[in-house]
Amino acid sequence: MSADEDPGPPSSAPPLRVAVVGAGPAGIYTAEALTRQRDVPVAVDLVDRLPTPFGLVRHGIAPDHPKMRAIRDTLHRAVDHPSVRFVGNVEIGRDVSCRDLHAAVDAVVYTYGAALDRQLAIPGEELPGSLAATELVAWYTGHPDADRAKVEAALARARSVVVVGVGNVALDVARVLARTPAELEPTDMPQHVLDALAAAPVEEVTVLGRRGPTQATFTTQELRELGELAGATVLVDPADLELDAAAEERAAADRVVGRNLAVLREWAGHVPEPGRATVTLRFFARPVRLLGEDRLTGVEVERTVVDEDGRASGTGETTVLPADLVVRSVGYRGGELPELPLDPRRGTVPNDLGRVLRSGQPSPGEYVAGWIKRGPTGVVGTNKHDARETVAALLADVAAGVVRPGSNGDDDLVAALRTRGADPVLLEDWRAIDAAEVALGATRGRARTTLHEWESLLAAVREAAARAR
Ligand code: NAP
Repeated sequence: MSADEDPGPPSSAPPLRVAVVGAGPAGIYTAEALTRQRDVPVAVDLVDRLPTPFGLVRHGIAPDHPKMRAIRDTLHRAVDHPSVRFVGNVEIGRDVSCRDLHAAVDAVVYTYGAALDRQLAIPGEELPGSLAATELVAWYTGHPDADRAKVEAALARARSVVVVGVGNVALDVARVLARTPAELEPTDMPQHVLDALAAAPVEEVTVLGRRGPTQATFTTQELRELGELAGATVLVDPADLELDAAAEERAAADRVVGRNLAVLREWAGHVPEPGRATVTLRFFARPVRLLGEDRLTGVEVERTVVDEDGRASGTGETTVLPADLVVRSVGYRGGELPELPLDPRRGTVPNDLGRVLRSGQPSPGEYVAGWIKRGPTGVVGTNKHDARETVAALLADVAAGVVRPGSNGDDDLVAALRTRGADPVLLEDWRAIDAAEVALGATRGRARTTLHEWESLLAAVREAAARAR
């Protein structure tokens, strides 16, 4: 049997009881790594504050990327394992403290990601019409905490859009905003999102990179997709693609960079076409001020130069881009959980190979995996290796006697949560939500439509329970 195969039912030894906090890819891969090893029988509670699993696969991956979103079928199999229990609608800090959770199980693995946005720290950032990518993405993926009013007010007048940052999230945002209604129609976006995007008057989207094209962090497949939009033409200034020696070297040494450049060069001859929107990729340009009195009207942009070490600095040469909507897509950062240490500069929990460090020392039985461990980098699959590393550390601690299976009694976590007044949503409840989303989608000929309100998510659970009685 290979290490990847399921080892079958656990032995009669007391299981290692692990709570995994966050049912996104990192949490699910952690649960999978725990159930796939053969040394220690396990019982995993996969806790999430949402009543739905999959984290950023549900509320991050763009809905117009159905193939990527299909990874949730693979993740679902891991959640469906007999030794794993999904425990949704439970918030650490509100329903149970870190300390009490830790006291109820043998080990806790925190995999709650990096949900906060990074700021630009420039004047005007708080003007109406300025959004964080996290706000827009939460809204278009139907996250129940999305600020609908704020996003929809900004979109209603969004003729000229500036997206700050040249990572994959920036490309997601630019692409979704430039899509035609027909392109978005088959997605699982909530109907009000489809309606608001269809009504938004977007004509031009400018994506700003503060450094050069060889320093952009987007990947080639995502870049290429911009060139396949039904209703928009991609524009690039050929002058931005003239490379100095260091950039030439980077392009030669890094395959992704080389391929990105080849795609950008294909577009350098493009000109705007009548009746089509434009998506302009502009490099060596950083925003220095968002302009406007009571709402956004433009962005003051400064030309930059990049030094040998890859650092951008301003040249003092500025221009103004008219803009009704600015989306800052300059990365995510992890937030603090009460009682858990956080490195505020990195936005990660201090750790050594996944072992949480308190005052520089490993804290027995506490671990991290995913973005809250390493920062917001990599693709979904990156979390698999990351989770395995953390699980290896946990199992080594079990082997060394630092973590002892059964040491914290055998009280049931879900029963304890209910006693405290929490209302955990289990896997069968999630199945009810899943079925309700599929049924809602079917009313408009779609595979699924995301339920976007707490009330409708929990109502789907209640109605299924009532039917089962
Ligand atoms: P990212 O790749 O780190 O990109 C952040 C961008 O913001 C960079 O271009 C960065 O430029 C820029 N930036 C940072 N601070 C700035 C500032 N003050 N002013 C101007 N620009 C600034 O992060 P992301 O796009 O949020 O993506 C997060 C992770 O998710 C990445 O690993 C990404 O690949 C992954 N993801 C993947 C997909 C996909 O596979 N389709 C989709 C979405 C996200 P500098 O480089 O100059 O700092």
